[in-house]
Amino acid sequence: MRVAMIGTGYVGLVSGACFADFGHVVTCIDKDPSKIERLERGEIPIFEPGLDDLVARNVREGRLFFTLDGAQAIKDADAVFIAVGTPTRRGDGHADLSYVYAAAEEIAGLIDGFTVVVTKSTVPVGTGDEVEAIIKRVRPDAQFAVVSNPEFLREGAAIEDFKRPDRVVVGTEDERAQAVMRELYRPLSLNETPIVFTGRRTSELIKYAANAFLAMKITFINEMADLCEKVGADVQQVAKGIGLDKRIGSKFLNAGPGYGGSCFPKDTIALVKTAQDYGAPTRLIETTVEVNDARKKAMATKIAKAMQLEDLAGRTIGVLGLTFKPNTDDMRDAPSLDIVPALQALGAKVQAFDPEGAKEAAHLLKDVDFKAGAYEAAEGADALVILTEWDQFRALDLDRLKLLLKSPTVVDLRNVYKPAEMVRHGFTYASIGRG
Ligand code: NAD
Repeated sequence: MRVAMIGTGYVGLVSGACFADFGHVVTCIDKDPSKIERLERGEIPIFEPGLDDLVARNVREGRLFFTLDGAQAIKDADAVFIAVGTPTRRGDGHADLSYVYAAAEEIAGLIDGFTVVVTKSTVPVGTGDEVEAIIKRVRPDAQFAVVSNPEFLREGAAIEDFKRPDRVVVGTEDERAQAVMRELYRPLSLNETPIVFTGRRTSELIKYAANAFLAMKITFINEMADLCEKVGADVQQVAKGIGLDKRIGSKFLNAGPGYGGSCFPKDTIALVKTAQDYGAPTRLIETTVEVNDARKKAMATKIAKAMQLEDLAGRTIGVLGLTFKPNTDDMRDAPSLDIVPALQALGAKVQAFDPEGAKEAAHLLKDVDFKAGAYEAAEGADALVILTEWDQFRALDLDRLKLLLKSPTVVDLRNVYKPAEMVRHGFTYASIGRG
C-alpha cells in the first residue's frame, strides 16, 4: 500500500517508519523545513529509542521518504494519515483543530482515485464529520472515506507499542475503507492483535476515554499516596495489593508528582470541555484535572518541607530529570515546568540534569543552571530531587552523592530508592506515599 503521513512528529514519524517496516511505501510530510532537512540527512529530530535504526533501514530499503511538498505522495496514496498536533486551544481548553482542518484542505485539493483519509491525531468527537465536510466542500467529486484510527503509543516505547499494540481501533462503517485499514495493519495479525472496528464517533471517543481513565488511575494512586503518608502506610504495597486484582490491574499505579506530558493534560481538558458542551459533564475527569494541577504545584512545598524549611531563599536544589517521563526528550507539559518555577518562587536556585531533555528544557525554564551529569547536578546542592526516573538515576553511587551534596537530603518524587537504604547511607530522605 502507498501511505502519505501528514505530520512527522512523535506519532507521525514512528507510525510512518513502522508502516514502512510492515512493507508499505510511506512518505512522511511535514511543513517544518528543519525537520525534513534533518531527516533527509539521516538525523532523527526526536529522541525515541530504536527509531534511528528503524528509519535508516527503511530509507535504505526504499520504502520511507520525507518531503516538505506532499502533493505527489497524497495523489498516489491509498491512505493519507493526518498526524498533526492537536494542542489545547488558547483561552478555552478545547482541542485546537486548526492543523487538522488545514491538513484536510490540503488533502482535498490533491486526492486522486478512492483514498482513505485517516485521522491519527487525537481529535474530539465529530472531527471526522468536519474533515469529511471540508473535503466534500472543496472537492464534491472526490472519492474518499474518512476514518478515525487513534494512536495509543507511548513515547519512550513507541516502536514496540506500534508494532505490538494491545489493540488497534478503526472507526469507519465504509467497507472499502475497512479493507484498506485491514491491509495496512495486516502484519499485526501475526501476533493476533485485535482490531476493533467501530463507528467513527465511537472511535474518536475511545481515545479520550482511554487517556482520561489512565489519568484518573494515576491521580487515584497519588491521592492514596497522600493518605499513606498521613496514616503510616506504604503506597507501593497498596498498589501491589490492589493491582494483583485483575479487575484493577497493576499498570499505572506508580505514585508520583502528578501526570504531565504531551497527551494526558490536554486530552483530559478537551474531554471535559466536550462533555460540558454536550450537557453530560464528566465530573470524575474534571476533578482529576483539578487534583493533578494542584499536586504538581504542591511539590515545591513538599520539597521545602523535607528540608525542614518554609522558604528556599539562598538554597540550591539539584534536579534530576526534566522530561515528563524517561526515554523521551519531550518536555510538553512536563511536571518540571510547574515544579521548577515553584521552587524558584520559594527562592531556590535550581541546577538540573536531564539525559535528553535539557535542550528543549532550556527554552522553557528560566534561570536554570544545566549540568552535564547527575553528580554535577548534586554538587553543592542543599537537596537533590529526583523528578524523572531515567534508568541512570536508579543506581547512583550514594556515598559519592552524599559527599557532593552540601546537605544530604534527597527528595525522590518517583520512589526509585528504598527509604531504609537511604537512611542507612545517612540521607534525609523523602518520597511519595511511603509512611
Ligand atoms: P508533534 O507536534 O510532535 O508533531 C506534529 C507535526 O505535524 C509537527 O512536526 C508539525 O510541523 C506537523 N504539521 C502540522 N501541520 C502540518 C501540515 N499541515 N502539513 C504537514 N505537517 C504539519 O505531535 P505528536 O506528539 O506527534 O502528536 C500528534 C497527534 O497524535 C496529536 O493529536 C496527539 O494528541 C496524538 N498522539 C500523540 C501521542 C504522543 O505520545 N506524542 C500519542 C498518541 C497520540
